[in-house]
Amino acid sequence: MSQRGRGLCSLPHTRAGQCRRRLPNVDQRTEPAPAAHQNGLHRRHPHGAHLFPAMPIPILMYHQIDAPPPRRSPGRGLWVPPARFRRQMRLMHRLGYRGLSMRDLMPYLHGERSGKVFGITFDDGFRNVFEHARPALDALGFTATNYFVSRQLSGSNVWDRELGIRPAALMSVAQMRAWHQGGHEVGSHTLDHVDLRRMAPHEARRQIAASKDELEQLLGVPVTAFCYPYGSQDAAHREMVREAGYANATITARGLARASDDPFGLPRVSVYCATGLFGFLRKCLTAHEDRWREA
Ligand SMILES: [Zn+2]
Repeated sequence: MSQRGRGLCSLPHTRAGQCRRRLPNVDQRTEPAPAAHQNGLHRRHPHGAHLFPAMPIPILMYHQIDAPPPRRSPGRGLWVPPARFRRQMRLMHRLGYRGLSMRDLMPYLHGERSGKVFGITFDDGFRNVFEHARPALDALGFTATNYFVSRQLSGSNVWDRELGIRPAALMSVAQMRAWHQGGHEVGSHTLDHVDLRRMAPHEARRQIAASKDELEQLLGVPVTAFCYPYGSQDAAHREMVREAGYANATITARGLARASDDPFGLPRVSVYCATGLFGFLRKCLTAHEDRWREA
């Protein structure tokens, strides 16, 4: 059942479920929510007992930011041209939204902060993200999470080879460190980009925990974000991720993220090569992506 328009508020709601009664002039970008807001799904107006559902948040999923291979090439949808990516980010900025890494986004998802925000994630640690996406993010003051395959630093997407997907270089250790030092987040995507559901439990646990250790050794800071390769996971894997000490994990299922979601199974919004500006806005600012989630 949809969380939107669920009847906790007796006042009329917009189509997106936002209460028509406005909060007083709070700086939506930077103000921590009042203590009464910190109960996750539902936030309380400062003046009293009026409740309304928190807004769902899009967490964007990208892979490569580079010129795509020719039409009909395998996996072509996973490339987004740099100019298109820049336009998407600038548009969100112009609309008053701030793009955030998972680390920076979680307080908003939990209702500890309020504001117009969205999540930005990149899978696999591609070098072209460092070269093309990072300058665009930095120019707007956005942060993002990139999920690295810890045994493939300076390597390539060898796991895509049998699918016929064109190889592309992955970031080096120095580039990963620069990504982190620039304010962006390093997350883990296992040691070898494995399908966890095909692994014996002890190997799945090793892929999850040892990749965290290796990245932390290289960076000297905690790594708290995880992403399941291929989105492949079950309840046992989520528990392994939690036990390993991560704070959140993303999947590939479509949908907007909510405070009520399992923090180790957060859905995302895929942005593809062919996603135009209209489609992009529809994915980010409407309930479009939730059609799959709630089916
Ligand atoms: Zn991946």
